[in-house]
Amino acid sequence: MNKTARNIMKQARKRGQVVTFISEESTTRCPCWSSDFQQSDVAWHEANPDAAECNDQGFLFSPATTVEANVFIIPYAATSRTEIPVYSHFIEKLGPVKNDDHLLITPEMPANAKWLEWSDAKWHVYNPIAVPIGSSTGVWLALVRRA
Ligand SMILES: [Zn+2]
Repeated sequence: MNKTARNIMKQARKRGQVVTFISEESTTRCPCWSSDFQQSDVAWHEANPDAAECNDQGFLFSPATTVEANVFIIPYAATSRTEIPVYSHFIEKLGPVKNDDHLLITPEMPANAKWLEWSDAKWHVYNPIAVPIGSSTGVWLALVRRA
């Protein structure tokens, strides 16, 4: 971690928000998966009602892992002003924004982080982008949307 990234982490500890990242990794194929047809099999699940459900790519959900982190969460509307012009190029890549979306700025992004808990609510984490500072990742940006 370089000096700028360490500094952002220090600032996040002092002035940021504490969130809990929730990561879900799905890497195990469901027994129903047909490699011939490249699809999951609804009939198999009907025949095996006690089996775990899979997602539409035929992967089983593994147990979620959580980790606490100090981050910045900013209402997206506020970022359209010129407060963080350094990131504006990356913010454009975060995709279509809805009302009440928030921007996440974090020195650490756990792998497969799909959600975070903050302010008594659960939020989706969308499109994390690693922003380089010098030769390494300085911060991560992501769009967060109340679930
Ligand atoms: Zn399945």
